[in-house]
Amino acid sequence: MPEAWTLTFNNLFFPIFCRQCQYPLLTQENGYFCPECWALSTRLEPPFCTVCGRPQAARLGFGAVENFPCPACRAAPAPPYRRVFGAVAYEGAIAEAIKLLKFHDRGRIAHLLAEIMAAFAEREMNCGQYDDLVPVPLHRVRRRARGFNQAQLLAKELLPLFPRARLNQSLSRIRPTRTQSTIKDHKERLQNVVGAFAVDREENFDGRTVLLIDDVVTSGGTVSECAHALLRAGAVHVDVLVAALPIEDSESRPKQGRREDARSIWSRFVTR
Ligand SMILES: [Zn+2]
Ligand SMILES: [Zn+2]
Repeated sequence: MPEAWTLTFNNLFFPIFCRQCQYPLLTQENGYFCPECWALSTRLEPPFCTVCGRPQAARLGFGAVENFPCPACRAAPAPPYRRVFGAVAYEGAIAEAIKLLKFHDRGRIAHLLAEIMAAFAEREMNCGQYDDLVPVPLHRVRRRARGFNQAQLLAKELLPLFPRARLNQSLSRIRPTRTQSTIKDHKERLQNVVGAFAVDREENFDGRTVLLIDDVVTSGGTVSECAHALLRAGAVHVDVLVAALPIEDSESRPKQGRREDARSIWSRFVTR
């Protein structure tokens, strides 16, 4: 079993640790996170708000709950997109993975996140309705500096799941914007991206149903501006699929488990 030997050798001389809890990794499957941290990230479960995609625990047990927006979305003006789908809560290992996705060995992390998004989409979405998968674009200067667009990596991985869709990269960021997560004020965030996106002049979205893809949605400003641009280009519906959504109320969430101590790490190692 040459693979097992390589693994043993690597673990002894070049140990790798979970990026979230620093526990030594004894498997090469994931390469960044221990199974516990990865599994502890809260998968979002229905009933969902039909606008922002956040789970509505309060509506559990009410039967037909799939067609209701949450109180916050009911109070707010309707966004230009139809609805957001998010697979996991933006926290813990998932938040760390999304940060890493921007700098590190991105293929592998994009694959891990896309796996979670795909499992969610298969379960919760009508994948056959989409004509185009559109990654949220980076400005060309940032794209050149980074070398890739993480949303595009995710969209590519997800494409096989959508039987009618093609990967459409005709949406671009026409002016540089500040990173949304560095701006605290909600209004300032929205202002930051106003008019920042446009569809290539020769691209026609007439009558098309579009799924925007990104890693995370926070204020919704970026996806709203993208949706405006797509609707101006003729799209009839724009939905949004992201890996993670920040969820504010955390009462129903599982707490992070306690870690094993060093001795049990060794006992696990030795018994293999
Ligand atoms: Zn861990
Ligand atoms: Zn909502």
